Amino acid sequence: MQAYDKYQIVIGLEVHAQLNTKTKVFAADETTFGAAPNTQVSAITAGLPGVLPKLNKNVFEKAIKLGLALECDITRENHFDRKNYFYADLPKGYQISQDKTPICKNGFVEITTDNVTKQVILNRIHIEEDAGKNNHELDENYSLVDLNRAGVPLLEIVTEPVIHSSDEAYQFLTEIRKLVRYLDVCDGNMEEGSMRCDANVSVRLIGETNFRNRVEVKNMNSIRNVKRAIDVEVKRQIDIYENGGTIDQETRGFNPADATSFPLRSKENAHDYRYFPEPDLPPVLVTQQTIDDIKKSMPALPKELQEKLTATYHLSTYDAHIITDEKEIADYYFQLINHTKNYKAAANWMINEVKSFINENGILLQDFNVQPKQLAEIIQLLDDNIISSSGAKSIFKVYTEGNTKSAVALAEELNLIQSSDKDELATWIENVLAKYPEKVAEYKKGKKGNLNLFVGEVMKLSRGAANPKDTTQALVSILNN
Ligand code: ADP
Ligand code: MG
Repeated sequence: MQAYDKYQIVIGLEVHAQLNTKTKVFAADETTFGAAPNTQVSAITAGLPGVLPKLNKNVFEKAIKLGLALECDITRENHFDRKNYFYADLPKGYQISQDKTPICKNGFVEITTDNVTKQVILNRIHIEEDAGKNNHELDENYSLVDLNRAGVPLLEIVTEPVIHSSDEAYQFLTEIRKLVRYLDVCDGNMEEGSMRCDANVSVRLIGETNFRNRVEVKNMNSIRNVKRAIDVEVKRQIDIYENGGTIDQETRGFNPADATSFPLRSKENAHDYRYFPEPDLPPVLVTQQTIDDIKKSMPALPKELQEKLTATYHLSTYDAHIITDEKEIADYYFQLINHTKNYKAAANWMINEVKSFINENGILLQDFNVQPKQLAEIIQLLDDNIISSSGAKSIFKVYTEGNTKSAVALAEELNLIQSSDKDELATWIENVLAKYPEKVAEYKKGKKGNLNLFVGEVMKLSRGAANPKDTTQALVSILNN
């Protein structure tokens, strides 16, 4: 254990976020995920001679949105460059990217681990096109190439090497994913590969000033696996150093099945990309007006909403965090509190019932049947002591099935209205106490815990109609006489 404590972990992340534009970055082909292979491939995407790329303006808009949200400097004069390499899934033989003029520079992502907040400084965000996909499994004799993904716009987000634990990397990716979803620039789905992450990892002795060689780990299909891959890589490097070995700069793949990594390529055959300016695309000038317009079109960001929830609506930081985790949940919550002033109860319902329901049923909030107004009605009936909490859950369940009646009507129909009728309550209590004479005697001798049993029995007898608070009060006063 001690050997590990001597080292500082150094991590820089490169995140590729596939933009959710309808069409590709330099061609009008659609970008629908899962379409039949090679059905979204125009002459431009196929890299046929003589074709010219044409820029999709939405790509810049989305890139600038993300840059503004991360407080980056936005580059005004943008150039594209060719990054040359040969792959079967890159028919042109080069990728159009931004080398010298990334659209965003600097900026940061704020993360919190173990109650400590820090800024992960970004190096750059640049625009580039995705490659196609090779498939080596579908056919025994041939490798197959699907070019549907070729030319889909990507943003590459590159951090400075300032991340110092796998936990921080995990939080960083969680924040990025949350943000790209809020801004509607990328669906953030790592399983489908629309968000991908390469982790550059090195370690050095605490106090050492130079960085040591780094290893780039690829192929992680979830944020959790990025964290696992980093843990495995850190341990591997420290073990090598502790045994007197050295680390060469290399790229490794991660196998999530057994949490091991394997070499992909070493520095010796690292690419020389021979970047040069893309002659077929003019520079793109971004004006202040464009930046201002984009700023105006942006939704409130999670951090801003969290502050509003804690300051104005007095929610705990914890609740505010969960509610702003996903934009849809936050939007729903704000609609909900248009109909109720019980902000805390509204938060509890969102966090417990609503989130559990949509998670358990694997549905999206947009397909959730319970309307904010209906949920507010349930909360109101509870606050007025008209229904019990189990009654509230029954009404909630009926609403999830698409019922559109008012909550009061349902409470009546389902016999959920709690009785405040004193005579009725007295009769139930009388029956319960008559049923348990020994328990009553025990209670009178000091076994006060029996009260719970009586309350429970009254609730049962009344089929939930008795109000627990009234019942308890009435029981105490009867038993103490
Ligand atoms: P390249 O151009 O070869 O990809 P960069 O300098 O752009 O290299 O760095 C790529 C990523 O690697 C960045 O996220 C950077 O923070 C990270 N990085 C650079 N050096 C180290 C290091 N010694 N240890 C860990 N990460 C590093
Ligand atoms: Mg790089």
